Amino acid sequence: MVHFVGAGPGAPDLITLRGAALLEKADQVIYTGSLVNAALLERCREDSRILNSASMTLEAVIDAIREAEKKGQTTVRLHTGDPSVYGAIREQMDRLDALGIRYDVTPGVSSFCAAAAALFAEYTLPGISQTVILTRMEGRTPVPERERLADLARHGSSMAVFLSAGMLPALQEELLKGAYVRETPAALVYKASWPEEKCIRCTVGTLAVSAAENGIDRTALVLVGDFLSGAYERSCLYDPVFTTGYRKGENSA
Ligand code: SAH
Repeated sequence: MVHFVGAGPGAPDLITLRGAALLEKADQVIYTGSLVNAALLERCREDSRILNSASMTLEAVIDAIREAEKKGQTTVRLHTGDPSVYGAIREQMDRLDALGIRYDVTPGVSSFCAAAAALFAEYTLPGISQTVILTRMEGRTPVPERERLADLARHGSSMAVFLSAGMLPALQEELLKGAYVRETPAALVYKASWPEEKCIRCTVGTLAVSAAENGIDRTALVLVGDFLSGAYERSCLYDPVFTTGYRKGENSA
Protein backbone atom coordinates (compact mmCIF):
# COMPACT_ATOMS: atom_id res chain seq x y z
CA MET A 1 0.00 0.00 0.00
CA VAL A 2 1.22 3.49 -0.86
CA HIS A 3 0.23 6.57 1.12
CA PHE A 4 0.71 9.93 -0.57
CA VAL A 5 1.10 12.35 2.32
CA GLY A 6 1.21 16.14 2.40
CA ALA A 7 4.12 17.13 4.63
CA GLY A 8 2.88 20.69 5.13
CA PRO A 9 4.85 23.83 4.35
CA GLY A 10 7.91 23.18 6.49
CA ALA A 11 7.38 23.37 10.26
CA PRO A 12 7.43 19.72 11.36
CA ASP A 13 4.31 20.16 13.50
CA LEU A 14 2.27 21.33 10.52
CA ILE A 15 1.84 17.80 9.15
CA THR A 16 -1.62 16.34 9.85
CA LEU A 17 -2.13 13.77 12.62
CA ARG A 18 -3.02 11.21 9.96
CA GLY A 19 0.09 12.00 7.93
CA ALA A 20 2.30 11.74 11.03
CA ALA A 21 0.80 8.36 11.99
CA LEU A 22 1.39 6.98 8.49
CA LEU A 23 4.96 8.26 8.53
CA GLU A 24 5.60 6.60 11.89
CA LYS A 25 4.43 3.20 10.59
CA ALA A 26 5.92 3.22 7.09
CA ASP A 27 8.42 0.59 5.99
CA GLN A 28 9.68 2.94 3.28
CA VAL A 29 9.53 6.73 2.92
CA ILE A 30 10.22 8.55 -0.33
CA TYR A 31 10.35 12.27 0.40
CA THR A 32 10.72 15.32 -1.81
CA GLY A 33 14.14 16.32 -0.55
CA SER A 34 14.23 19.72 -2.20
CA LEU A 35 11.41 21.06 -0.03
CA VAL A 36 10.30 18.67 2.71
CA ASN A 37 11.79 19.52 6.12
CA ALA A 38 14.13 16.64 7.00
CA ALA A 39 13.12 17.09 10.66
CA LEU A 40 9.91 15.23 9.75
CA LEU A 41 11.96 12.12 9.08
CA GLU A 42 12.74 11.88 12.79
CA ARG A 43 9.24 10.40 13.05
CA CYS A 44 10.21 7.45 10.85
CA ARG A 45 10.99 4.03 12.26
CA GLU A 46 14.71 3.43 12.73
CA ASP A 47 14.59 0.51 10.31
CA SER A 48 12.57 2.31 7.63
CA ARG A 49 14.10 2.77 4.20
CA ILE A 50 14.34 6.49 3.43
CA LEU A 51 14.81 7.75 -0.12
CA ASN A 52 15.17 11.33 -1.33
CA SER A 53 13.22 11.74 -4.57
CA ALA A 54 15.18 14.86 -5.55
CA SER A 55 17.73 12.65 -7.29
CA MET A 56 15.23 10.08 -8.61
CA THR A 57 13.15 9.78 -11.77
CA LEU A 58 9.48 8.81 -11.81
CA GLU A 59 10.61 5.35 -12.93
CA ALA A 60 13.01 5.02 -9.99
CA VAL A 61 10.28 6.07 -7.55
CA ILE A 62 7.88 3.51 -8.97
CA ASP A 63 10.60 0.81 -8.91
CA ALA A 64 11.26 1.50 -5.22
CA ILE A 65 7.53 1.24 -4.51
CA ARG A 66 7.30 -2.05 -6.46
CA GLU A 67 10.18 -3.51 -4.48
CA ALA A 68 8.44 -2.64 -1.21
CA GLU A 69 5.12 -4.03 -2.48
CA LYS A 70 6.79 -7.37 -3.34
CA LYS A 71 7.73 -7.67 0.34
CA GLY A 72 4.24 -6.62 1.47
CA GLN A 73 5.61 -3.34 2.81
CA THR A 74 4.02 0.12 2.97
CA THR A 75 5.48 3.22 1.35
CA VAL A 76 4.81 6.81 2.32
CA ARG A 77 5.38 9.19 -0.57
CA LEU A 78 5.92 12.45 1.28
CA HIS A 79 5.24 15.60 -0.74
CA THR A 80 5.71 19.19 0.35
CA GLY A 81 2.65 21.26 1.25
CA ASP A 82 -0.42 19.61 -0.22
CA PRO A 83 0.33 16.93 -2.82
CA SER A 84 -2.40 18.17 -5.18
CA VAL A 85 -0.62 21.47 -5.84
CA TYR A 86 2.38 21.05 -8.18
CA GLY A 87 3.00 17.65 -6.58
CA ALA A 88 3.26 15.53 -9.76
CA ILE A 89 1.14 12.87 -8.06
CA ARG A 90 -1.25 12.14 -10.94
CA GLU A 91 1.51 10.46 -12.97
CA GLN A 92 2.50 8.35 -9.97
CA MET A 93 -1.10 7.30 -9.30
CA ASP A 94 -1.56 6.34 -12.95
CA ARG A 95 1.54 4.12 -12.85
CA LEU A 96 0.32 2.51 -9.64
CA ASP A 97 -3.12 1.91 -11.21
CA ALA A 98 -1.42 0.18 -14.14
CA LEU A 99 0.50 -2.04 -11.72
CA GLY A 100 -2.55 -2.76 -9.56
CA ILE A 101 -0.92 -1.16 -6.49
CA ARG A 102 -3.33 0.42 -4.01
CA TYR A 103 -2.85 3.92 -2.65
CA ASP A 104 -4.55 6.72 -0.76
CA VAL A 105 -3.89 10.43 -0.32
CA THR A 106 -3.61 12.44 2.89
CA PRO A 107 -3.84 16.19 2.30
CA GLY A 108 -1.43 18.71 3.78
CA VAL A 109 -1.23 22.40 4.60
CA SER A 110 -0.21 24.09 1.37
CA SER A 111 2.41 26.82 1.44
CA PHE A 112 -0.13 29.36 0.18
CA CYS A 113 -2.03 28.84 3.44
CA ALA A 114 1.15 29.08 5.53
CA ALA A 115 2.13 32.27 3.69
CA ALA A 116 -1.23 33.89 4.48
CA ALA A 117 -0.84 32.85 8.11
CA ALA A 118 2.62 34.41 8.26
CA LEU A 119 1.20 37.69 6.95
CA PHE A 120 -1.98 37.58 9.09
CA ALA A 121 -3.79 37.87 5.76
CA GLU A 122 -7.17 36.68 4.47
CA TYR A 123 -7.40 36.03 0.72
CA THR A 124 -11.18 36.31 0.52
CA LEU A 125 -12.02 39.70 1.98
CA PRO A 126 -15.61 40.89 1.37
CA GLY A 127 -15.71 43.79 -1.07
CA ILE A 128 -12.10 43.11 -2.14
CA SER A 129 -11.82 39.63 -3.61
CA GLN A 130 -13.72 36.38 -3.31
CA THR A 131 -11.34 34.43 -5.53
CA VAL A 132 -7.83 33.07 -5.09
CA ILE A 133 -5.83 32.21 -8.19
CA LEU A 134 -3.03 29.69 -7.64
CA THR A 135 -0.66 29.80 -10.56
CA ARG A 136 2.94 29.99 -11.73
CA MET A 137 5.06 31.60 -14.40
CA GLU A 138 6.00 29.42 -17.30
CA GLY A 139 9.43 27.92 -16.73
CA ARG A 140 10.73 24.71 -18.22
CA THR A 141 7.26 23.34 -17.44
CA PRO A 142 4.89 24.96 -19.93
CA VAL A 143 1.70 26.73 -18.85
CA PRO A 144 -1.32 26.44 -21.20
CA GLU A 145 -1.68 29.49 -23.48
CA ARG A 146 -5.10 30.39 -22.05
CA GLU A 147 -3.59 30.67 -18.56
CA ARG A 148 -0.97 33.33 -19.30
CA LEU A 149 -0.38 35.41 -16.21
CA ALA A 150 -1.33 38.62 -17.98
CA ASP A 151 -4.77 37.08 -18.69
CA LEU A 152 -5.27 35.79 -15.15
CA ALA A 153 -4.22 39.20 -13.87
CA ARG A 154 -7.21 40.78 -15.62
CA HIS A 155 -9.38 39.69 -12.68
CA GLY A 156 -7.42 41.67 -10.10
CA SER A 157 -8.26 38.87 -7.63
CA SER A 158 -6.09 37.58 -4.81
CA MET A 159 -3.25 35.60 -6.34
CA ALA A 160 -0.57 33.24 -5.06
CA VAL A 161 2.22 32.60 -7.56
CA PHE A 162 4.28 29.44 -7.01
CA LEU A 163 7.61 28.41 -8.51
CA SER A 164 8.38 31.87 -9.87
CA ALA A 165 10.65 33.62 -7.35
CA GLY A 166 13.52 33.44 -9.82
CA MET A 167 11.56 35.25 -12.55
CA LEU A 168 10.31 38.34 -10.80
CA PRO A 169 11.12 41.03 -13.39
CA ALA A 170 9.06 39.08 -15.96
CA LEU A 171 6.34 38.24 -13.42
CA GLN A 172 5.99 41.88 -12.48
CA GLU A 173 5.57 42.88 -16.13
CA GLU A 174 2.90 40.22 -16.69
CA LEU A 175 0.95 41.31 -13.62
CA LEU A 176 0.99 44.93 -14.77
CA LYS A 177 -0.61 43.95 -18.09
CA GLY A 178 -3.74 43.02 -16.11
CA ALA A 179 -5.80 44.82 -13.50
CA TYR A 180 -2.94 45.33 -11.05
CA VAL A 181 -1.03 48.61 -10.95
CA ARG A 182 2.49 49.33 -9.68
CA GLU A 183 1.02 50.34 -6.29
CA THR A 184 -1.06 47.15 -5.85
CA PRO A 185 0.10 45.50 -2.63
CA ALA A 186 2.24 42.38 -2.95
CA ALA A 187 4.34 40.21 -0.66
CA LEU A 188 7.16 37.73 -0.91
CA VAL A 189 7.04 34.94 1.64
CA TYR A 190 10.24 32.93 1.78
CA LYS A 191 10.13 29.51 3.50
CA ALA A 192 6.83 30.10 5.27
CA SER A 193 6.75 28.34 8.66
CA TRP A 194 10.49 27.45 8.60
CA PRO A 195 12.82 29.06 11.18
CA GLU A 196 14.37 31.12 8.36
CA GLU A 197 10.98 32.44 7.15
CA LYS A 198 11.03 35.95 5.69
CA CYS A 199 8.00 38.09 4.87
CA ILE A 200 8.59 41.07 2.65
CA ARG A 201 5.70 43.38 1.98
CA CYS A 202 6.06 45.42 -1.20
CA THR A 203 4.00 46.38 -4.25
CA VAL A 204 3.67 44.84 -7.69
CA GLY A 205 6.03 47.53 -8.98
CA THR A 206 8.73 46.69 -6.42
CA LEU A 207 8.57 42.87 -6.42
CA ALA A 208 11.79 42.31 -8.33
CA VAL A 209 13.86 44.89 -6.47
CA SER A 210 12.54 43.70 -3.08
CA ALA A 211 13.51 40.11 -3.85
CA ALA A 212 16.97 41.18 -5.02
CA GLU A 213 17.53 43.30 -1.91
CA ASN A 214 16.60 40.37 0.31
CA GLY A 215 18.44 37.70 -1.67
CA ILE A 216 15.27 35.74 -2.44
CA ASP A 217 15.27 33.69 -5.63
CA ARG A 218 13.63 30.40 -4.59
CA THR A 219 11.29 28.66 -2.12
CA ALA A 220 9.11 31.71 -1.97
CA LEU A 221 5.56 32.53 -2.84
CA VAL A 222 4.52 35.77 -4.44
CA LEU A 223 1.21 37.03 -3.17
CA VAL A 224 -0.57 39.80 -5.00
CA GLY A 225 -3.78 41.72 -4.53
CA ASP A 226 -5.71 44.29 -2.55
CA PHE A 227 -6.35 41.68 0.16
CA LEU A 228 -2.92 42.79 1.41
CA SER A 229 -4.09 46.37 1.90
CA GLY A 230 -6.08 47.52 4.90
CA ALA A 231 -9.46 48.02 3.23
CA TYR A 232 -12.43 45.63 3.23
CA GLU A 233 -16.09 45.36 4.18
CA ARG A 234 -17.18 43.44 7.26
CA SER A 235 -18.57 39.95 6.66
CA CYS A 236 -22.31 39.35 6.37
CA LEU A 237 -21.94 36.05 8.20
CA TYR A 238 -21.04 37.63 11.52
CA ASP A 239 -23.07 40.82 11.11
CA PRO A 240 -25.65 41.16 13.96
CA VAL A 241 -28.47 41.98 11.47
CA PHE A 242 -27.73 39.05 9.13
CA THR A 243 -29.85 35.89 9.56
CA THR A 244 -28.15 32.56 8.82
CA GLY A 245 -29.20 28.93 9.16
CA TYR A 246 -27.71 29.01 12.66
CA ARG A 247 -28.56 32.45 13.99
CA LYS A 248 -31.49 34.88 13.69
CA GLY A 249 -30.40 38.42 12.87
CA GLU A 250 -31.38 41.37 15.07
CA ASN A 251 -34.47 43.28 13.88
CA SER A 252 -35.48 40.45 11.49
CA ALA A 253 -39.08 39.18 11.56
N1 SAH B 1 2.76 21.21 -3.00
C1 SAH B 1 3.40 22.44 -2.56
C2 SAH B 1 3.95 23.27 -3.71
C3 SAH B 1 5.11 22.61 -4.43
S1 SAH B 1 5.76 23.60 -5.71
C4 SAH B 1 2.42 23.24 -1.69
O1 SAH B 1 1.25 22.85 -1.57
O2 SAH B 1 2.84 24.24 -1.11
C5 SAH B 1 7.13 24.38 -4.93
C6 SAH B 1 6.86 25.85 -4.74
O3 SAH B 1 5.97 26.02 -3.66
C7 SAH B 1 8.08 26.69 -4.39
O4 SAH B 1 8.75 27.11 -5.54
C8 SAH B 1 7.44 27.87 -3.69
O5 SAH B 1 6.87 28.76 -4.62
C9 SAH B 1 6.31 27.19 -2.96
N2 SAH B 1 6.64 26.80 -1.59
C10 SAH B 1 6.71 25.56 -1.07
N3 SAH B 1 6.97 25.60 0.26
C11 SAH B 1 7.04 26.92 0.58
C12 SAH B 1 7.22 27.63 1.81
N4 SAH B 1 7.39 26.99 2.96
N5 SAH B 1 7.20 28.98 1.76
C13 SAH B 1 7.00 29.65 0.61
N6 SAH B 1 6.82 29.02 -0.58
C14 SAH B 1 6.83 27.68 -0.58
